[in-house]
Amino acid sequence: MRNLPGLTLDELTRELSSRQRALELLKWLGAQRSLPTALPEVVPGVSHRVWGPFREKHGLTTPTVVERSVSEDGTTKYALDLSGSQVETVRIPAKGRSTICISSQAGCTRKCVFCATKELGFIRQLKAEEMVAQYLLARSEAPADAPARNVVFMGMGEPMDNLDEVLRAVEVLTQGPFPQLKYQSVTVSTSGVLPGMVRFLKESKASLALSLNATTDEVRTRVMPQNKTWPIAALMEALREAAERDPDRDTFVEYVLFKDVNDTDADADRLVALLRGLPARVNLIPYNPYPGTGLETPTHERVLAFHQRVVAQGQLCLVRWPRGREIAAACGQLVLAQDGAGFVPAAV
Ligand code: SAH
Repeated sequence: MRNLPGLTLDELTRELSSRQRALELLKWLGAQRSLPTALPEVVPGVSHRVWGPFREKHGLTTPTVVERSVSEDGTTKYALDLSGSQVETVRIPAKGRSTICISSQAGCTRKCVFCATKELGFIRQLKAEEMVAQYLLARSEAPADAPARNVVFMGMGEPMDNLDEVLRAVEVLTQGPFPQLKYQSVTVSTSGVLPGMVRFLKESKASLALSLNATTDEVRTRVMPQNKTWPIAALMEALREAAERDPDRDTFVEYVLFKDVNDTDADADRLVALLRGLPARVNLIPYNPYPGTGLETPTHERVLAFHQRVVAQGQLCLVRWPRGREIAAACGQLVLAQDGAGFVPAAV
């Protein structure tokens, strides 16, 4: 049986036999300063007669904080326990708002060479309420001047390999009166699992981020072995079809820069050519290193030169300088020693 954070407004309406009560319940949830550990005996505006049976059937998913690491810039990494599985959530403050980076799986189904999460292997799928609960917990600790307005599915896991639950979580996160995030403020990031990506683009209004990370199939297959199954051209074709259907939709293209592997001028030119005509914004991410991959981070100058070359050709592009690297909260550093995987993230 699903817990409250995984239920949609329509489902709550059915369960409570009234839209008004469902709205009151969501308002109650939104008003909680800290995430309660259980559903209360009374919720204002929800009659006892329907609340009692609801409370017997459904609980409240409340993650246990195993560890909380705060970096100098305020980026906070939570190691959370969800019914015995550990996942990580990151809260990243910026001017006027915070972004919450949530996990969609414990471990990951994919094997990207550069990503520390692969060390865990795949542990289990997270349920929608476990994804929403990560947001609720991190939101409750966001500073008053930087409320949690954005969610990115860029923590542990491949969202397209758990798509039903991810789509449900997106629906819940964007529904009123709470949490009422904008669709454009919810971004689901994929390593390029094509069937899931195509379905997501058809069924969801949330933003998509594609982790491209290379401009040739040879290099992409080296760093992301699944590229053998879904090569670059097929991924680009899917983006193009979606853009034709819905020209207003923005797509983000994530590009992790590896020294001498995908950071040459020729790569910058190929990247621009691949994305020509697509409403795509590129995020360049200098590689956050961890041991044993044989991959290195380009110099600051090389990152800037790559960026400039892309921008000079008219392509929207930003550099995502790492946040929270010293607490191993940056992209690709989410792995837990406590899970018994015997891997301790490098302190970089
Ligand atoms: N599985 C999804 C979401 C998790 S990874 C995906 O692949 O998109 C989130 C982002 O972090 C991806 O863009 C990925 O390419 C990037 N990333 C992974 N490991 C990294 C590392 N070591 N350094 C920098 N970025 C990394």
